[in-house]
Amino acid sequence: MNLEQVDKKYLLHTYARNYVNFKRGTNATLFDEKGDDYIDFTSGIGVVSVGHGNRRLADTICEQAKNIIHISNLYLIEPQALLARKLVELSGYDMRLFFANSGAEANEGAIKIARKYGEVDGEVKRYKIITLKYSFHGRTITALKATGQEAMHTYFGPFPDGFVYAESIEEIESLIDDHTVAVMIELVQGEGGVEPQDKEKVQALSKMLKEKDVLLIVDEVQTGIYRTGELLASNLYEIEPDIITLAKGLGGGVPIGAIMTNLKDIFKPGDHGSTFGGNYLSCAAANEVIDILEEEKSDGTLDERIIYFEERLKEIERDYPHLFEKSVGLGLMRGLRARSSDILSAVVKKSFEKRVLVLKAGRNTVRFLPPLTIFKEEMAEGIKRFRSALDEI
Ligand SMILES: *Cc1c(COP(=O)(O)O)cnc(C)c1O
Repeated sequence: MNLEQVDKKYLLHTYARNYVNFKRGTNATLFDEKGDDYIDFTSGIGVVSVGHGNRRLADTICEQAKNIIHISNLYLIEPQALLARKLVELSGYDMRLFFANSGAEANEGAIKIARKYGEVDGEVKRYKIITLKYSFHGRTITALKATGQEAMHTYFGPFPDGFVYAESIEEIESLIDDHTVAVMIELVQGEGGVEPQDKEKVQALSKMLKEKDVLLIVDEVQTGIYRTGELLASNLYEIEPDIITLAKGLGGGVPIGAIMTNLKDIFKPGDHGSTFGGNYLSCAAANEVIDILEEEKSDGTLDERIIYFEERLKEIERDYPHLFEKSVGLGLMRGLRARSSDILSAVVKKSFEKRVLVLKAGRNTVRFLPPLTIFKEEMAEGIKRFRSALDEI
């Protein structure tokens, strides 16, 4: 059996997988077993934020692994405490953190915080959470129910109660009732099509929710950790959410999720927990990732890359109007809205043939999530290949 056959025989078929075998990576470039190079505009779905084969990150992980990897949350974990302080100080939010292992798990914890907040003795229990119709919040049963895309709910019910879906930010207010405790949104819907929410509308929502004592949960699993150009998209939108969730880019590929909240005393020992969450290894990695990205943000390198990439996509929008309606997104989370889902499929397939990796989002968006450390030469080469793919459609 070759490796493709082994994969198909022994793994559940949850992904429409491309059978390329990557052997080596350096920043935004991957090499397959034949030594052919691919430009990676996906960074493992927004995860490998400091690129493949990053020496600083690898050395940190290696040093930590040679010492303590894991010890459980029953004891003090130095890199966990330092990581929490770093995220609070850099974000400017007066919050405390809890560490988990993934985006879905961080969102589950956020939902538990909201449910506990809604538990007031002797009064109406507030438990409803409003989310958006084209949202994506994860694959566990509750995170899936929080995800407004009903097509994804097939087969998996019955689900926990209390999720209500709004068509848009504007519609949220009309859905609030005596049982509503929270609203959960992405500021740029990742899986939903890479369309940034309107800043004024989000600020108005945030203000209205504060007046009504309804919590604002911002799912920054994809937008967080400099993906949109700031540490958090919430910083960019100049809002103060009650709960923020993080995951994808935080560990540079090491699994980690986080919940940040201003409800500093919501949990008592025993209310929530995680065996692996926040261990030495993942927190050491995340500390290094943030240090690397913070340096690149401070010296202007990250902003230069963002401008360069955005300009190249605007040129593609202008040069291929028969394929694309518009370019969308923020920072290095960008999309090209294709004129049809057939065009989208053709673009992704042709790009792969030209050895540039891109993603789909929603029904008709080509999504780009390059490593935040991508070199200008890698961007230029990837764009060149992408254009040659488009020329053949
Ligand atoms: C990817 C993603 C999730 C789920 O994260 P997992 O780590 O796969 O559980 C949740 N919310 C958003 C916005 C995401 O992009």
